[in-house]
Amino acid sequence: MPQCKKCDKKGLFLKIEGDTGLCLSCNEKFAGEGKVLTEKIIEAKNKVSSAKDPEEKAGACKAIQQYGNELLALHKSYNLQPSQELLDLIETYKKMA
Ligand SMILES: [Zn+2]
Repeated sequence: MPQCKKCDKKGLFLKIEGDTGLCLSCNEKFAGEGKVLTEKIIEAKNKVSSAKDPEEKAGACKAIQQYGNELLALHKSYNLQPSQELLDLIETYKKMA
């Protein structure tokens, strides 16, 4: 029987998102919160490439790590495996900061 990984809701006709294993309402919440953090990461990445001041650049690298870790925590709270891409991203900017 389909069961949501987050809220444990289950039912024969419960619709589960195939790629996350979450029910539609949990999936929507996860996607919404994830999107906010992803946008912040993209913004900080742009800042890293456009910053001329080394301190500003380092600050943006730190911000990416912070948002990246928040995104990891979000995955954990929904019992999801973070993507390798996200882990690599955090590692990359950790080295740069
Ligand atoms: Zn759910």
